[in-house]
Amino acid sequence: MAAKRNTVTTDVPESSVAPAEGTALTLDPRLSLRVDSVIPKKRHEALKWFGWGYNDSQFYGQNGIICFRGDKYPLGGCELPSFTKWVEKKFELTVDPRKPYPQLPQTYPRPVENAPFLSELRGITKVEHSLEGIDRLIRCHGQTLNDIYSLWHNKFQRIPDVVVWPRSHEDVVQLVQLAHKHNVMMVPYGGGTSVSGAITCPQEEKRTICALDTSQMNRLLWLNRKNLTVCFEAGIVGQDLERVLREQGLTVGHEPDSYEFSTLGGWVATRASGMKKNVYGNIEDLVVRVRMVTPSGTLERECSAPRVSCGPDFNHVILGSEGTLGVITEVVLKVRPLPAVKRYGSLAFPNFEQGVLFMREVALRRCQPASVRLMDNEQFMFGQALKPEKSWWASLVDGLKQRYVTAWKGIDLSEICAATLLFEGDLKDVQRQESIIYEIAAKFKGFPAGGQNGERGYILTFVIAYIRDFGLHQGIVAESFETSVPWDRCSLLCRSVKQRVVSTLP
Ligand SMILES: Cc1cc2nc3c(=O)[nH]c(=O)nc-3n(C[C@H](O)[C@H](O)[C@H](O)COP(=O)(O)OP(=O)(O)OC[C@H]3O[C@@H](n4cnc5c(N)ncnc54)[C@H](O)[C@@H]3O)c2cc1C
Repeated sequence: MAAKRNTVTTDVPESSVAPAEGTALTLDPRLSLRVDSVIPKKRHEALKWFGWGYNDSQFYGQNGIICFRGDKYPLGGCELPSFTKWVEKKFELTVDPRKPYPQLPQTYPRPVENAPFLSELRGITKVEHSLEGIDRLIRCHGQTLNDIYSLWHNKFQRIPDVVVWPRSHEDVVQLVQLAHKHNVMMVPYGGGTSVSGAITCPQEEKRTICALDTSQMNRLLWLNRKNLTVCFEAGIVGQDLERVLREQGLTVGHEPDSYEFSTLGGWVATRASGMKKNVYGNIEDLVVRVRMVTPSGTLERECSAPRVSCGPDFNHVILGSEGTLGVITEVVLKVRPLPAVKRYGSLAFPNFEQGVLFMREVALRRCQPASVRLMDNEQFMFGQALKPEKSWWASLVDGLKQRYVTAWKGIDLSEICAATLLFEGDLKDVQRQESIIYEIAAKFKGFPAGGQNGERGYILTFVIAYIRDFGLHQGIVAESFETSVPWDRCSLLCRSVKQRVVSTLP
C-alpha cells in the first residue's frame, strides 16, 4: 500500500481524525461517547488545590504516629508505626500533627485584562470560561516541589487571567484563532501533573494568560476493532481511558505513575513513558495519528497507515512539544486485547550491583516483562517501613522470613535490594517469561520474594506520590527525578546523586 506524505491541512469544522477508508462498517456503534470522568470540571472539588491527588487521600500525624486516610488505596485508614520510626530516625524529628496545611488564599493576583479578547470570548457561547481566583490559581502550576512550595507560600504573582473549557476540536480552533488575534498567551492544561515547568505561568508575562483546560474534551470518538485503533479526544484522563477500553476487553497499556490524573494530550505533549513500556511501548510507539490546532491551521497526517517512510514524521514534532506549537485535540492510539493473565512477582538480590547486572542481562536477552523495577537498599527499607501495623502472626512470619534471608541465604540486610515484576500475556507466555526471569536472577544470586510483595510495590507507587506534600508539611524537602544513563554509568550515577544530596545537608 502506498503511503501518503504527512500534510498540514486547514480546518474542516465537522471532521475528526477519521478512521481508515473502507473500515466504516467495523466501527463501534457507540460513536462519540462522552466519558464520565473521575475528575470534575471544578477540579478542587475532588483534588487537592495545594498538592498531589485526591482530597480524601493524605498522610497525616495522629498521636505521634503517621497515618494515611482515604479509601482509594490499599494503605487507606492505616496507622504506619514503622514508617513513623523510619522518618524519626532518618530526619531526627518528631511528627507534629498540629502544623496547619495552607488555607485557600483570600485574594488572588489581579488579572491582566484584555477587554476585546474577553468580549469576543463571551460571544462564543458554547465555550465556558471562568475568571474566578481559585479556577485560575489551580491551573497556574504543575507538580514540582518548587511549584508546590510557591503555592503554599503565595509566591505566584502571575496566574492565568482566564480559564476556558472547550468541548471539541472546533471550539479549540475558535479559541486559538481568538488568542492569536488578540495577542493572548494560551497554555494548554491537561491533568496539571507536569514536572517540566511548562504549565507554570511565566512570572514576567505581560500579556493576558489564558489556560485552556482540555478536561471537557474527553470523548471516545471511534473504535476500530479490526485495525485495533481507537480515537479519543485529548482531554481524557488516563484512568478513564483505560476503564472505557477495559469494558470493551481492550487496553492501550500506557501507565505512567501519574495516569490517575494525567491526560492523553498531556502524554503526547510530554512524550510520556509508562510503567509497562516494555510490552506496550512508550507513548510515541502507541500514537498513530494526532490532530493539533495551531494559529495557522490544524496539523494532522492525512493517511492512517501505521508507518510512513517518506518525509519526516510530524507526529514526532508534536510529541514532546509541551504545548508550545499548538493544542492537541484528538489522538488515534493502538489498542490490544486485555491480557488473559496478569501476574506480579518480586526478586531479592544481595546488593544493588547484582541487581543492576540482572537488569542488564534481562535487557541484553530482550526478555523484559511488562514491568521490572529495581530498588536499592534504601528504597527497599523505605517500602518495608510503609507496611501497616502487623498482627503478631504476620510479625512472626516476617521474623522467620528475615531469618531465612540472613541465616540461610547469607544476605546482609543493610545491602539487600529488590525488584518488582509484572508479567502480562497468555498463560503459556507468562510462564515462559517467569522461568527466564527467575533463571537470570539466580545467575546474579537473586531469589524470588513473592507475588504479593511485587503487587504491593507496584501499587505503592501511586501512594508514594502523596509523601512529598506530607514531607513539606513537616519541613522535609522531597522530590523525585528521572534520567537515563548507559549501563556502565548506572551504579556510579546512583551513588553520586546520593552523595550530592547528603553533602548539601546542614
Ligand atoms: C507523581 C508523578 C508521577 C509521574 N509519573 C510519570 C511517568 O511515569 N512517566 C512520565 O512520562 N511522566 C510522569 N510524570 C510527569 C507527568 O505526569 C507527565 O508529563 C504527563 O504526561 C503530563 O500529563 P498532563 O495531562 O498532566 O499534562 P499537563 O501537566 O497538564 O501538561 C504538561 C504539558 O503538556 C501540555 N499539554 C497538555 N495537554 C495538552 C494538549 N491537549 N495539547 C497540547 N499541549 C498539551 C501542557 O501545556 C504542558 O506543557 C509524573 C508526574 C508526577 C507528578
